[in-house]
Amino acid sequence: MIRNYDKLIFELSKEGRTGYSLPKNEFEGYCICKGIPQNMQRTDVPELPQVTEFDVVRHYTNLSNKNFGVDTGFYPLGSCTMKYNPRINEEIAAHPAFAGLHPDYPVECTQGALEVYYNLAQSLSEVSGLAAFTLNPYAGAHGELTGLMIMRKYHMLRGDYKRTKVIVPDSAHGTNPASAAVCGLQIVEVKSTAKGTVDVEDLKPLLDDTVAGIMMTNPNTLGIFETEIPEISRLVHECGGLLYYDGANLNAVLGKCRPGDMGFDIMHINLHKTFSTPHGGGGPGDGPVGVRAGLEHLLPNPQVKKDADGQFYIDTDESSAGYVSNFLGNFGVIMRAYTYILTLGRENVKMVGPLAVLNANYVKESLKADYYLPIEGVCKHEFVFDGLVDKSTGVTTLDIAKRLLDYGYHAPTIYFPLLFHQSIMIEPTETESKETLDEFIDVMKRVAREAAENPDVVKSAPHTTPVRRLDETTAARYPKTTYRQMKG
Ligand SMILES: *Cc1c(COP(=O)(O)O)cnc(C)c1O
Repeated sequence: MIRNYDKLIFELSKEGRTGYSLPKNEFEGYCICKGIPQNMQRTDVPELPQVTEFDVVRHYTNLSNKNFGVDTGFYPLGSCTMKYNPRINEEIAAHPAFAGLHPDYPVECTQGALEVYYNLAQSLSEVSGLAAFTLNPYAGAHGELTGLMIMRKYHMLRGDYKRTKVIVPDSAHGTNPASAAVCGLQIVEVKSTAKGTVDVEDLKPLLDDTVAGIMMTNPNTLGIFETEIPEISRLVHECGGLLYYDGANLNAVLGKCRPGDMGFDIMHINLHKTFSTPHGGGGPGDGPVGVRAGLEHLLPNPQVKKDADGQFYIDTDESSAGYVSNFLGNFGVIMRAYTYILTLGRENVKMVGPLAVLNANYVKESLKADYYLPIEGVCKHEFVFDGLVDKSTGVTTLDIAKRLLDYGYHAPTIYFPLLFHQSIMIEPTETESKETLDEFIDVMKRVAREAAENPDVVKSAPHTTPVRRLDETTAARYPKTTYRQMKG
């Protein structure tokens, strides 16, 4: 049965019903069309649902209940670091002294906000070992593009126009080659060894004077720490290229080792993964980019600086790689990440990496009798299974992911990385308790048992969600977001 409040809000509409209660006469004589040219003013009444406030509240509350987020349950989405978003971050970011600022205010009125920006950039320098950071890019992929613009500008300022190739490992996150392509660079793939790390022997013949640099993720998307970095750093630098570090998931090594010390020249960090700010449907992100000493002038404009008197000001540099955002990044996200770092403090920041690694290894070791682990050994923040150990039932990774929904879990990342046919990539994150991990392990084992004993129940999952299996490509490419589209 469809309950009244499960209907689309337009279907609840009754002529003359209203969903607001405004004081009488408040807007009498007020023309909202003032200043809008006559030919641009609408002449017909907009077609809106006529419903009560209660209808609207129920409608949106029920919609929100159909959603899944870190605040609803365990969300082991590999590479996405769906960890707890501390509420104190929200409180601080919402403080009117910050939330009420306009980016065009004169710097005399925004010293506090600029100080937050400056201090967060300094903290990121400290944890990464790089000299300077911009917080302007709006996402991880945007950070990659910014970093590659810096790389390209570096070569161009040296008059070295031949360097148009970027080397990207076959295990890389899809945004790496995509960002390189958007930046107008050509992508050259380097293979992984059977251990899952970059194959140095495969890399060597790729290095010549057309290489702008290499993009690496460490630990990589298999959750494996790249062991050959000193050698790779030497080889790439010797051939005149730069090393780019994808630090989206820096939580894996936070406080333990630093990309700057490994020889990387440029990197990005996802504040919306490593530094606990919401992401996905939960909010926008921010992808700060750092550079080693000597490349600071290439950071995008505008730049926040501090003068000898301790006053903050906004500067631009002519040799900058350019503008990547209209103002100084997603400031609300910057506030949250800064709060997170301050609430942890230096000592606890060092606990983030070890706990992320402990949780991932605990889940991996508990499940490897049922799920096929193609690369043995200690992982970092995440790991990848290649489907079930027992493949005879025909139950696929997609089936397993769908069945997990029935048990109230968000599915792990599936069919990525592309190195295996049935990838299931799990990242529990450092903020989950042992009890939550144990429950998840139980459910994963139960699904494996079901696959053996009653495969059809897994193959036809999900059974309890508002919609069953979707054509995911069509749903993503042609989403129906309005009532008219749904009816038409
Ligand atoms: C998430 C992620 C990115 C991209 O970050 P977005 O903010 O989603 O653009 C890049 N690289 C890795 C390894 C990631 O996990």
